[in-house]
Amino acid sequence: MVNKIKIVNKFYDIRILIENYRKGNKYFCLFHNDINPSCKIYGNALYCFSCRRFYYVSNIANKLGISIDELYGEIKDKVDLSKINSDKWNKKNELGDGKVNGGLIERYKKYLEMEKMDE
Ligand SMILES: [Zn+2]
Repeated sequence: MVNKIKIVNKFYDIRILIENYRKGNKYFCLFHNDINPSCKIYGNALYCFSCRRFYYVSNIANKLGISIDELYGEIKDKVDLSKINSDKWNKKNELGDGKVNGGLIERYKKYLEMEKMDE
């Protein structure tokens, strides 16, 4: 079965969702009262240096009241599902709930690995 959340987190460009929250190359956090922009994009996720966690496309869509189905509908024709349905892809892309336990660097390394798998 297709995991729509995983697919939108990976393939829906997060920049589209948060364009209105951008200031230069930083972004205002949607999850705390952010006066100076506290977030930067890593891979296809937003990291908030104040909340100290990653937010994925699905988190931001939920916050903005946009359905996962809608985002999935926009990208499903462009995504190679054969790549996604493999066990290997699913295992390597388990990123938990976004909380930073092992530190930002470890999380970022995982993102870089994930990006490499696309090539
Ligand atoms: Zn925040």
